[in-house]
Amino acid sequence: MIIVIDGPAGSGKSSTAITIAKRLNLQYLDSGALYRAVTSLWINAGKPEKGEFFNILTGIHLQAEYTDDVFHVKANGNDLTAEIRSQEVAGYVSEIASQPEIRSFINAVMKKIVENGIYIADGRDLGTAVFPDAFLKFYMDASIEERARRRFREMEDSGKEVTLGDVEANIRERDRTDQNRKSDPLKKADDAILIDTTGKTFEEQVSEITGIIEEKLKLKH
Ligand code: C5P
Repeated sequence: MIIVIDGPAGSGKSSTAITIAKRLNLQYLDSGALYRAVTSLWINAGKPEKGEFFNILTGIHLQAEYTDDVFHVKANGNDLTAEIRSQEVAGYVSEIASQPEIRSFINAVMKKIVENGIYIADGRDLGTAVFPDAFLKFYMDASIEERARRRFREMEDSGKEVTLGDVEANIRERDRTDQNRKSDPLKKADDAILIDTTGKTFEEQVSEITGIIEEKLKLKH
């Protein structure tokens, strides 16, 4: 069973999904981390052409697991967890994620991961393309200024040297690429519940979504 939260960068999806996973004892899947991992692999391979990179990728076994408060990603056993959060990866990830072959590769990895367990996952196209029959779908959004401020604070807290202007420019560009790509663009699924987090506290958004999930779980039993 899977519950999905889609939305643009910095809308609070990951931190919300992680908190809900802990409260409701669900497993957590960060689909963006898989796109970041593939981007990291592409950078480490010397930024090869599409076809060449896809050949390399077919020989890669991607594993992902949320443990000790971190979403860990490994490729053929090598831990990529730290490097996937760099600004360089953030700068290329949407371009890499716009390739249909890459999307099919990651979709297959995700479908395999969620076979065993009850998951809450966050991404861009989970409710529309990857898990159209998800148990519940949410779409989180917030103003661009608020999303950039949140992401900037997160990066500052983890010791990264970035400016708010750079973070906002990166988010704007990623929104544009994610919403306009041909293959499974970022968009709210018709049956997704919209959660606008502008001006909401973290606890308010978590409680709102948790309440909806609990209600639907009660109806199911
Ligand atoms: O969620 P996060 O910001 O880490 O995602 C990084 C990038 O991966 C996004 O900007 C988007 O380009 C891509 N992505 C995607 N589809 C998903 C999740 C992420 O295209 N389901």
